[in-house]
Amino acid sequence: MKKLTLQMISFLALLIFCGCAAVETATTVATDIAVQRGTITKEQAASIRTGTTAVSRSLEDFTPEQEYYIGRSVGAVVLTKYKALNDAKVNSYVNLLGQTLALASDTPELFAGYHFLVLDSDDINAFATPGGHIFITRGLIRCCRTEDELAAVLAHEIGHIQMRHGINAIQKARMAEALTVLAREGVKTYGDEELIKLSNSFGDVISDITTTMIKNGYSRTYEYQADAAAVNILRRAGYQPGALVNMLQVMSRQIKPGGSDFAKTHPSPQARIAELGISAQTAQIPNIRKDRFIKAAGHLL
Ligand SMILES: [Zn+2]
Repeated sequence: MKKLTLQMISFLALLIFCGCAAVETATTVATDIAVQRGTITKEQAASIRTGTTAVSRSLEDFTPEQEYYIGRSVGAVVLTKYKALNDAKVNSYVNLLGQTLALASDTPELFAGYHFLVLDSDDINAFATPGGHIFITRGLIRCCRTEDELAAVLAHEIGHIQMRHGINAIQKARMAEALTVLAREGVKTYGDEELIKLSNSFGDVISDITTTMIKNGYSRTYEYQADAAAVNILRRAGYQPGALVNMLQVMSRQIKPGGSDFAKTHPSPQARIAELGISAQTAQIPNIRKDRFIKAAGHLL
């Protein structure tokens, strides 16, 4: 009996570190064989299966609060690499535009809402943390000639949040670690000191996300998914999705192949345009929208 318990524990421990749908299938097969051989009883097999399902589900199951606190730490890392742009006018405009688009997304409500911030950098880049912080560089705003094109960039980043790409960048083995720390701390409002402690406790989790987001980039599939999400968001908010194509056309002329910004973390603009399969925006943009864009961001262009 002692041996059997040890076997069960090591079996479950293994499952905790590989939780996924494949594990559930493997568990069913493994427990069926064990029952046939008489190693475990039918009741024990059922209990292992229930336990495995719970483990697999919990790995995917970060709460909105937990995503926010992880996202806040990721945002703090972004701000160690980039300086925020000290420009209230453009920041409040980007926030107004971003909030409007977020309302038209599939995830209009996040634990602490969406926050948009312009970064003081010539790099052509943008980041979205799992908690709803979206950063866009001055260099990327410069690639946008209209509010519609800027909306397309923000909608793409909202798409990454909506599809939970940041959380998915955490290596599966580390999900258990993160959830354990977060569960131990409980849901509460963290002060700066507690947040630092919490960030230190799952530094690897934060670095999984920041390395993917800033250095390596998401998979091409994720990028195309974010573009597809952007098309829906733009359409719902009353913008022409073709604005994304316009922006990508400008970007293809601006980014330097081999650069450390969008050139490195995203598929080429040409590949993204081909995947989108829609045409560039041709319809007139209302004057009020043109004026609003130039008034708020014209000095950056
Ligand atoms: Zn992206």
